[in-house]
Amino acid sequence: MQSVACRGLIRRFLPQKEPVSSWTTSTARLFLAGARTASTAAQPSKQVDVEEKTDVIFTNQHFEIRNLARKLIDSEINPHVDKWEAEGQFPGHAVFKKFGEAGLLGLNRDEAYGGMGLDFSYNIAFAEELGYIDAGGVVSAFGVQTDMATPAFAKYGSHELKKQYLEPAIRGEMVACVGVSEVEAGSDVANTKTHAVRKGGDFIINGHKMWITNGAQADWICLVCNTEADKPKHLSKSHILVPMKSPGVTVAKKISKMGNRSSDTAQIFFEDVKVPQTNLIGEAGMGFIYQMEQFQEERLWCAASALIGMDRIIKSTAEYCAERKAFGSAVLNNQIIYFTLAELQTEVEALRALTYRAVANYTQGDDVTLLASMCKLKAGRLARIVADKCLQFWGGMGYSEEVLISRYFRDTRCLSIAGGTDEIMLHIIAKYMGISPEKAKKK
Ligand SMILES: Cc1cc2nc3c(=O)[nH]c(=O)nc-3n(C[C@H](O)[C@H](O)[C@H](O)COP(=O)(O)OP(=O)(O)OC[C@H]3O[C@@H](n4cnc5c(N)ncnc54)[C@H](O)[C@@H]3O)c2cc1C
Repeated sequence: MQSVACRGLIRRFLPQKEPVSSWTTSTARLFLAGARTASTAAQPSKQVDVEEKTDVIFTNQHFEIRNLARKLIDSEINPHVDKWEAEGQFPGHAVFKKFGEAGLLGLNRDEAYGGMGLDFSYNIAFAEELGYIDAGGVVSAFGVQTDMATPAFAKYGSHELKKQYLEPAIRGEMVACVGVSEVEAGSDVANTKTHAVRKGGDFIINGHKMWITNGAQADWICLVCNTEADKPKHLSKSHILVPMKSPGVTVAKKISKMGNRSSDTAQIFFEDVKVPQTNLIGEAGMGFIYQMEQFQEERLWCAASALIGMDRIIKSTAEYCAERKAFGSAVLNNQIIYFTLAELQTEVEALRALTYRAVANYTQGDDVTLLASMCKLKAGRLARIVADKCLQFWGGMGYSEEVLISRYFRDTRCLSIAGGTDEIMLHIIAKYMGISPEKAKKK
């Protein structure tokens, strides 16, 4: 996060504010590029009058980005989500291209690869705005592209590899996925069995991955696999970039799911897949550590992306209950209903505050594994409670496919599972608190 002084600088250097509605995607890029330059180069410039809107970690510029995202969500996504849900697939390349052109897929990525060079709080602003998407499946696909498949790659990948694969992903021309989980290893990441052996200048990869979001349409996978057979589990893994068109890569099936239906979730097999050793991301043997590191961004992203969905469901439930009459009065007039909605909104604001705090610490360079795990745990649990309690207040209508609440109920269930289950978050939290038995054993 920029310091207050730095934020002031950004405002001074910003071009005169245009209404977002008149923006084209290329002017948006120019706007962001201008702000980026301002944040890094302290040259004097004429002060311009920029409307002030801040919210803890967000500046006016974050809100401009959110407005831009919202416009694209309203024009390019929401009119089509019902069709994509029915088809069980959203068109990743077409959708990401639009967002990539607007600069939204590489907000905190290096300018050398087409990114905006901003800090992680901008990704969070974007993630929060994605809550306006009417289908959780599309939201999760964005998260994989911007904050799950790419953080370690952006940090540790070689220049050549990033030019070839990261830059097109930032432009929205390539779809990315991340391969950690396997049939026998989900929570237990260290137990993954997919492995690569060195042969000549190549890696030969064998194994499989399970539950891979974007897996059926991805152009490349950031693959966690064992490369150092003689090392202990936590030091035997590496991240390897594997193009999905490589011979030997098979998308075995697209998994049929109870929710997030517009997102393709695939099981993928790797049979003697050959990639050059130059596709190694960072150092060999550091894959497990990189994965734990990038989980911080993934989990903060998960929490942020859940906030507006909860706001919207609570609001729409209140509206429905205000209109719906029973026993001669609006059902909202029952104290159990308006008290419950008031309490849920309070909980959402508490989660928002926790998330912003964690993001502020992270952008200052802190390790926020503890806070990010708390955010992810609370987001998963709260989304389930919001979905369940609100659906109840819709009565029979809530159980129909006619209203968003039923899709929301199905989609949000995943938040307590994917990206690390609630129980794994509790393990991490307890470990950091020094109260888990494994910690006690080591003492
Ligand atoms: C829709 C969806 C999308 C996904 N996308 C991706 C993706 O893009 N890439 C990817 O790599 N993975 C992805 N995943 C996988 C996801 O991360 C795993 O499902 C998750 O980590 C849990 O692993 P598992 O399913 O093997 O459950 P298991 O590890 O088998 O866990 C089963 C149950 O046991 C509990 N449990 C396990 N260990 C402990 C313990 N030590 N203490 C207490 N309880 C425990 C778990 O919390 C859970 O309740 C996705 C999953 C879903 C459902």
